[in-house]
Amino acid sequence: MTNKKSKYPLIIIGAGPAALTASIYASRYHLDHLVIGESLGGLAFEAHKICNFPTEQEISGVDIVNKMKEHAESLGAFLLLDKVVGVDRKGEIFRVTTRNGKVFLAKALLLAVGTKHRRLGLSNENEFIGRGVSYCATCDAMFYRNKTAAVIGGSDSANTASLYLAEIAKKVYQIYRKNKLRGETAWVGQIVNNKKIEVIYNTEVVGLGGKKKLEKIILSKPYKDQTELMVDGLFIEIGTVPQKDLINKLSLETDERGYVKVGPDQKTSYFGVWAAGDIATASNNFHQVITACSEGAIAAEDIFKFLQKSK
Ligand code: NDP
Repeated sequence: MTNKKSKYPLIIIGAGPAALTASIYASRYHLDHLVIGESLGGLAFEAHKICNFPTEQEISGVDIVNKMKEHAESLGAFLLLDKVVGVDRKGEIFRVTTRNGKVFLAKALLLAVGTKHRRLGLSNENEFIGRGVSYCATCDAMFYRNKTAAVIGGSDSANTASLYLAEIAKKVYQIYRKNKLRGETAWVGQIVNNKKIEVIYNTEVVGLGGKKKLEKIILSKPYKDQTELMVDGLFIEIGTVPQKDLINKLSLETDERGYVKVGPDQKTSYFGVWAAGDIATASNNFHQVITACSEGAIAAEDIFKFLQKSK
């Protein structure tokens, strides 16, 4: 299916759970809209297992996102895979420009572009990306079959990465800067009981070494008398930061961490712009697939009311 139109009441920017749910709700309100996202699913796509989404006892990120996409498309949604690179406003109309040179107009915008992986910030980190350093266990764990991998972090992303790697690798070190893992208790319990995973507490990774590929990591303090740990792969799972481009272009008000401030109706500080999902400060900052969906639904309903009034 191709879209020939360039003008919509609503453009949803993003293609993750918040955006796809907003699209489902918008369709049910008969609200003509376009969904534009750089890639399907956002970070939810990378989740190895999601076990807390009602009706799904266990489902992969890929499967849940594809189900949402199918649902949205079955109701008539058009999803354009392209990156929005420009947004400006003339009078009451927003003009949205994509990387592929397309231009669309809309009366309302929903920003649901999510977050990206936080980098550790080591001087040679970039050199090792794709050569031993990864930010996505679901994507890259299979390269470490019967090898040794390390994971940095102590919350859900790191915990689920360690558990997934333990299904494939020979040995997994999880390096955490504090003394007690946090995140979902169910994952923490599984880690503690997994013989392949060794958690190194109160420690940070301060260096990376290797010739053509990663061979070792340097720890901030000795572990079993060694500050160097020989590993084949390192998974940096230390949280996320908001995708800032469009936030900056629209000069949206953010909190001190850079997340878009929204009200209970998901409205941002910019008239005619809503935000939902991991990029927004809603849902008590609890970034989950279910809260992203809920925020997408709330935004769609409020946008519907706004567009009804402005007719
Ligand atoms: P979080 O922000 O929850 O955790 C980041 C982790 O990385 C923390 O342990 C933090 O340490 C550590 N960290 C941050 N910066 C550094 C640094 N510079 N050096 C070393 N360690 C660092 O991010 P997650 O990606 O784990 O989770 C994000 C959201 O996604 C959460 O809401 C989470 O619940 C959700 N999620 C849920 C999953 C699920 O299965 N339910 C799976 C994956 C994510 P400290 O603890 O000291 O702050």
